[in-house]
Amino acid sequence: MYELKIITQFGAAHQLRNYHGKCEFLHGHNWKIEVFVKGEKLDECGMLVDFKILKDHTNEIIERLDHKFLNEIECFTEINPSSENIAKFIFDEISKGINDNRIRVSRVTAWESDNACATYTVG
Ligand SMILES: [Zn+2]
Repeated sequence: MYELKIITQFGAAHQLRNYHGKCEFLHGHNWKIEVFVKGEKLDECGMLVDFKILKDHTNEIIERLDHKFLNEIECFTEINPSSENIAKFIFDEISKGINDNRIRVSRVTAWESDNACATYTVG
């Protein structure tokens, strides 16, 4: 198996509902996002996927979150914009754009600080 990773980031505000602690109050994070793609076969250029294609797909999703109040974005009006749910949202959205019979998104990690992150992955 080959695995590629790209790293990007965005800044946004959030507030966790039904949570008692610091994160129930409005605050912001600079999330660092890692996107992993896996596959067994390389293309005729010897690549799993062009990094540019992966970055472009990822940036499209990130733009929907960057500098926003996440609780007001449609995907987070019902569920909390926790790092766990942010990782899953990005995973699902990039998967829709990039998965094919050769490659699939395998893991998305959302770092909300230098020492705390949440990962969404498949089985
Ligand atoms: Zn927070």
